[in-house]
Amino acid sequence: MQTHLSMINSDFLLKIFKETPFPALVLLPDAPHFTIVDINLAFLKTKNRNQKDLICKSVFEVFPEANQYKNEAGISDLFNSLQTVVASRVADKMPVQKFENKTENSEKYYIESENIPILNDFGEIEYILHTSVNVTEKENAVRQFRSTEKKLLAAQQIAKIGYWKLDIPKNKLFWSEEVYNIFGINKDDFKLNYELFFQTIHPEDKEAFIKARSAAIAGEKEMDFEFRVNQPNGVQKWIHEKGKLVKNEKGEPVIFEGTVQDVTEAKLLKLSLEESNQRYHYVTKATFDAIYDWDLITDECYWGSGFQKSFGYDLKTLLSDKNFWETHVHSEDHDNVVNEINKAVKGTAKNWLNEYRFQKADGSYVFVLDRGILIRDKKGKAIRMVGAIQDITEKKNLQQLLDKANRLARIGSWEIDVGSATVYWSDMVKEIRETGPDFIPTLREGITHFKEGYSKDTIIARVKDAVKYGTPWQEDLQIYTHKGNLKWMRTIGKAEIVNGKCIKIYGSFQDIDESKKAELKILKLYEEKNTILESIGDAFFTLDKNWIVGYWNKEAEKMLMTPKSKIVGKYLWDVFSQSVGSISFKKYHESFETNERVVFEDFYHTLEKWFEISVYPSENGLSVYFKDITERKLSQIQLNELHENLQKTAHNLAVSNAGLEQFAYIASHDLQEPLRMVTGFLTQLEKKYSNIIDEKGKQYIYFAVDGAKRMRQIILDLLQFSRVGRFEGLTEEVDTNKVVEDIVSLHKKKIEKTKAIIHFDKLPFVHTFKSPLTQVIENLLSNALKYQKPGQQPVIKIAAEKLTSHWQFSVQDNGIGIDPEYYERIFIIFQRLHHKEEYSGTGIGLAIVKKIVEGMGGGIWVESKKGEGSTFFFTIKR
Ligand code: ADP
Repeated sequence: MQTHLSMINSDFLLKIFKETPFPALVLLPDAPHFTIVDINLAFLKTKNRNQKDLICKSVFEVFPEANQYKNEAGISDLFNSLQTVVASRVADKMPVQKFENKTENSEKYYIESENIPILNDFGEIEYILHTSVNVTEKENAVRQFRSTEKKLLAAQQIAKIGYWKLDIPKNKLFWSEEVYNIFGINKDDFKLNYELFFQTIHPEDKEAFIKARSAAIAGEKEMDFEFRVNQPNGVQKWIHEKGKLVKNEKGEPVIFEGTVQDVTEAKLLKLSLEESNQRYHYVTKATFDAIYDWDLITDECYWGSGFQKSFGYDLKTLLSDKNFWETHVHSEDHDNVVNEINKAVKGTAKNWLNEYRFQKADGSYVFVLDRGILIRDKKGKAIRMVGAIQDITEKKNLQQLLDKANRLARIGSWEIDVGSATVYWSDMVKEIRETGPDFIPTLREGITHFKEGYSKDTIIARVKDAVKYGTPWQEDLQIYTHKGNLKWMRTIGKAEIVNGKCIKIYGSFQDIDESKKAELKILKLYEEKNTILESIGDAFFTLDKNWIVGYWNKEAEKMLMTPKSKIVGKYLWDVFSQSVGSISFKKYHESFETNERVVFEDFYHTLEKWFEISVYPSENGLSVYFKDITERKLSQIQLNELHENLQKTAHNLAVSNAGLEQFAYIASHDLQEPLRMVTGFLTQLEKKYSNIIDEKGKQYIYFAVDGAKRMRQIILDLLQFSRVGRFEGLTEEVDTNKVVEDIVSLHKKKIEKTKAIIHFDKLPFVHTFKSPLTQVIENLLSNALKYQKPGQQPVIKIAAEKLTSHWQFSVQDNGIGIDPEYYERIFIIFQRLHHKEEYSGTGIGLAIVKKIVEGMGGGIWVESKKGEGSTFFFTIKR
């Protein structure tokens, strides 16, 4: 049965296959070989191969060998495609393959291949038809288009141009990526519509924008408009928008499209240029600087109004060439200035600067500073010079004055160019460093002469810091001059930083040797004074006129229990607030007001201390000295108390003494009266009744009278004793030799009787009360005569010895002596060691002596040996 509906027979079909211009292969589906069973002529032609080389071979065997499928991907693409076809029995198009034709100038070409299954009547694959079409042209066109599109996008991005389009019938707006970028809007967050966009326009530009847009949409005028938008991040941009209306064949507007461009930079530049032009305009009008604009090509010159204002020239008469200027430069400066200008013009400099003398219209000369800017073309040739000439006469004079002042102050200047390491020293620096005027300084020279140690280390560190961090410095350092003299210098340095790099260090150098030495001397004095102030036992502090504490020494810290850190620099009454209104508070104010020294004592309750405070006013405030007198004060108080007590006791004593004396006086009188009566009547009794009274009776009467006599004596003694110690009259120079002589003559009888020997020699003159002293010596001498062994010749020695504050007298005898047991007792009133029959006496003598001696500020004591004699010592004040 004929299954083919074709009217062409199969041989003819084969012929067509062979002849068709599309390269084709017939393969068996015998994976993985895919054997070639037929090839058409077009294929053989394109591959330039013979049929017999290919037939019956695996397609992979043939083509890799021929190096047709250059890359692995090509082979695997073919293999994958054939496999797909076998599995699916559907035709499969392979990806376009790129080839390079080795023979024809390695031209690139692109092949698109398709594998088509040829099924038998059972639907099984009998053959696979592999066709290849050269798609180079098409591929090139696509590639070309893609790259142009890319370039266009990039160009838009670079030019900051965005494209927009409004479909009028649909009212649909489109923005290209760049439009979003220009308006600073995130595409994903923004639902594109005209209203939202309109809001971003600067309020001042909204009205004009609407006008321009409406006119464009109405077809009156294409849109070409500049306006400002505010980006959501607050940045303002200048936008240049162009828009054009597109109409359809019927003349209806269908599309409104155009571009937006970010012109911010250019616009700002333009604005600032306008501004600076305006400023320039005003400056030329306002300034006294004479501005000129010299065209170097035409040699024409423009002279600003400053030439009129500053130098008095009439602008209308000035010719526009440089001759006017040249002829008015001072003849002495002329050649130099013209030379310099020519050099600058021919060279590469951008700026020119010079100082010279310039003639005014009235013929006088002034100093000017001429600053020019050279404008050059692309080749570097100077085409124009714009500049300003400034009258600096005044400045110059000032500079000269300053120079003079600097000379006087011995200040010089220096400069280090960091890049070239060149160093400049002014003449003054050279003078200070004693180098001589022709000395050429170097960086090393600048530093090596600083004194080793602190000075050198410091200057090196300062220079390094200036270069590294731009830190300025000021230091007083020591340096050896070139003549070897060590001097104090003040060096001040500053760094000039350009683009974060130090290019120059400059500064001044001042000879401060004399003042520094004076300062150091003062400092030393001050330190010495300080050490003194610190080491004195007194607390010391100073106050300024505002009660701020300036100085507070160690002792003050201790005494007032306040460390320096807590008080220096503080308001005194803040720290000692509890003392406001105290005695100290008032006295300080007093010293301030009267400007006089004030000394006072004050008790500080918080410290429980007494202070003696001396306040000295000075020009700057007060100096205050504190002495802790707590101990002295306390003992003084105790002493006062004691004194008061003593006074009371003395008073009481005086009262009682007076009473006693009165009593003694009365007693002696009143007692004597009955005694006299007793004695008188007894004497009468003895006289009248002597014949009646027997011997025994007469003896009794004698005893009674004797008793009464002794009683009277006791009373008299008592009266005398009570009066002792009241020294009346004046003290006098007493010759003790004379006193002793008088006493000896008083006891003449007894002395002669006992043949007593009395020694005394060169006794002193004593300033004292005479009679009490006489009484003392008399008592001691009479005792010495009295207390002798019966029949013994008394030997008595009276002597005196000079002690530091006293005279020490001694009365020595060779008498009976005294038992040490009684050394004290014998000085007590009425104390006797003997019976009246043995040695007469009342026992009052030594008590009186003791009272007198002690009353005159002296003392009395005895040294004795029983049976050998006694020595009585007494002292009286010199
Ligand atoms: P009076 O001589 O009246 O007894 P004094 O007061 O003079 O009293 O002496 C007190 C006592 O001291 C005497 O009784 C005597 O015992 C003793 N005495 C005084 N002087 C001497 C002396 N020179 N030698 C020995 N004993 C003395």
